[in-house]
Amino acid sequence: MFYKPRPVPIDLIKMRSLHARMNLTPTERKYYLNREKGFEGEVIFDKLTEKLESDCLILNDLLFELNNTEFQIDTTIIFQNTISLFDVKNYEGDYYMTSDRFYTKSDEEISNPLLQLERSQSLLRQLLKSIGFQMPVEASLVFINPKFTLYQAPLDKPIIFPTQVNRLMKKLNGVPSKLNGKHTMLAEKLVSLHKTKSRNAKLLAYEYGQIEKGFICAKCHSLSVSVDGKIGVCKNCGAEEEIESAVIRSVNELKILFPDMKITTNLVQDWCKVIKSKKTLRRILKGNFKTIKSGKFLYFE
Ligand SMILES: [Zn+2]
Repeated sequence: MFYKPRPVPIDLIKMRSLHARMNLTPTERKYYLNREKGFEGEVIFDKLTEKLESDCLILNDLLFELNNTEFQIDTTIIFQNTISLFDVKNYEGDYYMTSDRFYTKSDEEISNPLLQLERSQSLLRQLLKSIGFQMPVEASLVFINPKFTLYQAPLDKPIIFPTQVNRLMKKLNGVPSKLNGKHTMLAEKLVSLHKTKSRNAKLLAYEYGQIEKGFICAKCHSLSVSVDGKIGVCKNCGAEEEIESAVIRSVNELKILFPDMKITTNLVQDWCKVIKSKKTLRRILKGNFKTIKSGKFLYFE
């Protein structure tokens, strides 16, 4: 079972929004698309692990800091006698390895995910020891995308290829395991040590005045929603959403992008752009956020 779900990371929500609302530099855009793709791969892996039937606790997306070093683990599974960690990569296309180095087919070197995996494995082992749990830590690198090929892959490394993912699930289902309170305590402890913000998050520069306003489509993340009565319709993908839920989502997005701004009806009207009725907006804000009175002004939290 999922002891800790995988929320959409805050920095990804931010980048999605900025990607739709302003022109990112080519480097920023590449970084964003990689993040989006990586997240997509993790969610595909979750769809498989959520079906596991063995007695285990699954913790998704953990970020720890140990001795001033941050490390992130895509999926951690606590079994009775072992902890398995998985790093999931959604790489697509042809890659090759040579003497511990990792390259794309066009000879561009990228960080070797196996080294990253070993590092996380070692740090998790140390972290477990520091909180009084000594258990073997197994680590695997999962390539989830069926369009991925790795030439000259080493035989002795813990790599799971797309064609082997089903076998991995069978193997995990076969792990003999009976959890007790100690394991729940461990899961609780790990979640309490999880950091929600990375020190290494890329900071994009943006200002309120400089970004485009309007609704972003919940499905395709493009800024092309127009309003038809109580329904917002995306001109890009055709998805429909009730105005109320679009407003709530947009206000949450605004709060993530500009945590210091006071959410007033006027601000939300400017932000959502396509809703003309202030009365409608005020009703939605009052119904879904905490109303704060400051003199003769109202704002929402
Ligand atoms: Zn759309």
